[in-house]
Amino acid sequence: MNEIWSGSLRKMTVTAASPVEYRMGGENGPLLNQYLGKKLSLHFEGKINCIECAVALKKSYQGGYCFPCTQKLAECDLCILKPELCHYAKGTCRQPKWGEEHCMIPHFVYLSKTSGVKVGITRHTQIPTRWIDQGATEAVPIFKVSTRLQSGLFEVLLGEQIADKTNWRKMLKGESSEEDLLERRDQLFEDCGEALDQLEEELDDNGIEFLEDEAVTELSYPVLEYPEKVKSMTLEKMPTIEGTLMGIKGQYLIFDTGVINIRRHTGHTITLKA
Ligand SMILES: [Zn+2]
Repeated sequence: MNEIWSGSLRKMTVTAASPVEYRMGGENGPLLNQYLGKKLSLHFEGKINCIECAVALKKSYQGGYCFPCTQKLAECDLCILKPELCHYAKGTCRQPKWGEEHCMIPHFVYLSKTSGVKVGITRHTQIPTRWIDQGATEAVPIFKVSTRLQSGLFEVLLGEQIADKTNWRKMLKGESSEEDLLERRDQLFEDCGEALDQLEEELDDNGIEFLEDEAVTELSYPVLEYPEKVKSMTLEKMPTIEGTLMGIKGQYLIFDTGVINIRRHTGHTITLKA
């Protein structure tokens, strides 16, 4: 086998083609789609570096950081997992400038189909990257709002009716609900109409839009065959992961030997061979 890439892992770079195109190591890295049906191996030397400050680590936290960085970066704060807790307006954002650039900007609340239908939020600049990273096969924005906090409040409200998590095992098996996203959206608007109107009134922001006419974006992935059983592999437990590449979906490589979540290994130095 020959080395095709080596370096510190980042999430795969995606392009919304049909099927989605995946590259390892940034825009100029090798296109992984070309290795479908071929042998591929990832070898981990045991070296992990914090993706913020580059310090050498035994173990990374929150997907690639050293512990001190998780305590001082805004992007590692609890409000990133729970946007409804965004505290920028209270003046307590860990890095106000980062908050201005990433949170105090328009966001979308969307419905997507990963296996079942779920609700999620994203910055306007992250469409459709966010959906691809989750392995969604369909998605449609349903609200446009002015800030991350507002998107979180809408998500919490809708989360009473609809899942907000991806079942990644089902997503990787290619299982998909038959539900129609637009019908589900209309049903949600009907079922939650009063609560949604009330929230909009409380927020009193004319940047909030109910999106009733958005089209569904369909996404397809380079997959030869979905696994019947999903066996998860990590480089900590298995420093060399190899097999025939059967597919790529979300941020996972699907081998005939099991699956690996590339994003989970951010900051790990690896050599990729084909
Ligand atoms: Zn660090």
